[in-house]
Formats: sequence, C-alpha cells, structure tokens
Amino acid sequence: MASIFSRIAAGEIPSYKVAEDEKHFAFLDINPMAPGHTLVIPRHEVDYLFDLSAEEYGELMEFARKVALKLKKAVPCQRVGIAVLGMEVPHAHIHLVPLQTEADMDFRAPKKTLSAQEMTDIAKAIAEA
Ligand code: AMP
Repeated sequence: MASIFSRIAAGEIPSYKVAEDEKHFAFLDINPMAPGHTLVIPRHEVDYLFDLSAEEYGELMEFARKVALKLKKAVPCQRVGIAVLGMEVPHAHIHLVPLQTEADMDFRAPKKTLSAQEMTDIAKAIAEA
C-alpha cells in the first residue's frame, strides 16, 4: 500500500501544495513549527532519505533548494532551516522551516495552529514566489 505521502503527491489525499515536478512534490506540514514549514519529497517511495540513489538524492536536494528560495521570498525570515528526521512517516522527506531564530526549529515545541485559510494563503504565496 502506498505511503500517505505518495497518496498526497498523487493528489489522492488533499494537501497545501507548494511546488511539484515530475519527480518531486512539496507541501505544507500540517503541524507546522513555523508558518510556511514545508515538506519536500521524492515521488519515488523510499523509506529513508539516505536510501535514495546518489542521482535521486542530488535531484531532490536541487528541487528543495528551489523551494527554499521561494519560501524565503514568500515568508519573511532570517534563514530557511533544513532538517531530516523521518521518525514518523516512512517516506523520505526534507523539512524546510522559515527561521527568525534557532528556537524556531524545535521539534519538541508545541506546533503552531494555523487556520485552513492561512495555510491556503501561505501555500499560494510560496507557489507564486
Ligand atoms: P518525521 O517523519 O519525524 O519527519 O515527521 C513527519 C512530519 O510529517 C511531521 O512534521 C508531521 O506533522 C507531518 N505530516 C504527517 N502527516 C501529514 C499530512 N497528511 N500532511 C502534511 N504533513 C503531515
């Protein structure tokens, strides 16, 4: 059975889409650490990021770089932080988090609650940046 993230990338499960291409998909994390917290995934379903081939890994990183540039334009921040955990969802993904300070990237901190309208507006702003 396909992972939840494969189903999101296929459009079978709704998400706040930020960007996509033939091999990759980016969407807002549903429980963001900061507004604009984005997940970047390969469509190819692999459990762990470092199980990707060198070529796939390079392509994913380049796609993530493009998404991070859009994110930086759309969401005012000092830096876009990047992290890989994969403790919860067994489909390789990269977290991109707009940071004002290093405290904004705390995986144990209570998550932010944004309305559906706010999530829609942020996703649109990133997509169009
Ligand atoms: P981890 O596997 O530890 O990197 O964490 C998985 C991340 O995926 C968490 O930050 C979740 O909030 C996020 N997440 C899980 N399900 C969804 C979903 N359906 N849409 C968006 N983000 C999700």
